[in-house]
Amino acid sequence: MVIVYFFIAHYFLSIFCQTFFLHRYGAHHMFKMNKFWERFFHLLTYVAQGSSYLNPRAYALLHRQHHAYSDTPRDPHTPTLYGNVFTMMWATKKRYQAICERTAEVDSSMTKEHFPEWPLLDKIGLNRMSSISWVVFYVVFYAVFATAPWQWLLLPVQILMGPVHGAIVNWCGHKYGYRNFKVSDESRNTLIFDFVTFGELFQNNHHRFGTDPNFAQRWFEIDPTYVIIRCLSALRIVELPSKKLTAAAEIGIPVGFAEAKKA
Ligand SMILES: [Zn+2]
Ligand SMILES: [Zn+2]
Repeated sequence: MVIVYFFIAHYFLSIFCQTFFLHRYGAHHMFKMNKFWERFFHLLTYVAQGSSYLNPRAYALLHRQHHAYSDTPRDPHTPTLYGNVFTMMWATKKRYQAICERTAEVDSSMTKEHFPEWPLLDKIGLNRMSSISWVVFYVVFYAVFATAPWQWLLLPVQILMGPVHGAIVNWCGHKYGYRNFKVSDESRNTLIFDFVTFGELFQNNHHRFGTDPNFAQRWFEIDPTYVIIRCLSALRIVELPSKKLTAAAEIGIPVGFAEAKKA
């Protein structure tokens, strides 16, 4: 059972770091934290993602492109252009690597906003030996604690945890589910209680209100990461903006609300 607990802990810690640190903080600045806590969560992200650690700068730039060009040919990961999730993720990986190697052309508007940087940790994280070392650690851990052959089937998922989460969110979040808001892309809310990716599957809500740290917009929706953010805010570890950023009158009409009104 140790392997199962290890897998569950790794799965949820990794997705939490992705949505909390890389996405909501690094790419969007939905809340603030001081340098100590930024470094703390940066390091936690490195440990949690391990062999599939995503560089915060590359994640932020790639993700800002996703919002700017959502579901168009310039989107780094749109299911509308690919026959299956593997070809989409392979194309995303190539774009991500080019940004890491600084060979990709990135529109200057994507780099205007700050993103978390830690030169030493970023250098370690981008080094192939770092990924290999984490894989060796997982294999040794499995060799010591696995009690049944089927448990080894979880190992490839752990090695590729970051891309596995990316595949779930990028594919399902723009393909399956309901829409609260009319937006110009294909974003969907896949689950009403997103326990699978800790809020990331509220893509329709998030594309509508790109700076709102709460990805849940309707009374029945639950975004677990926002609950954690509120706790961290109460502990003064993060600082939330004083006014809820809703920008309600911008473009979209909430589809669900509009339908409810008619009925
Ligand atoms: Zn986003
Ligand atoms: Zn999206």
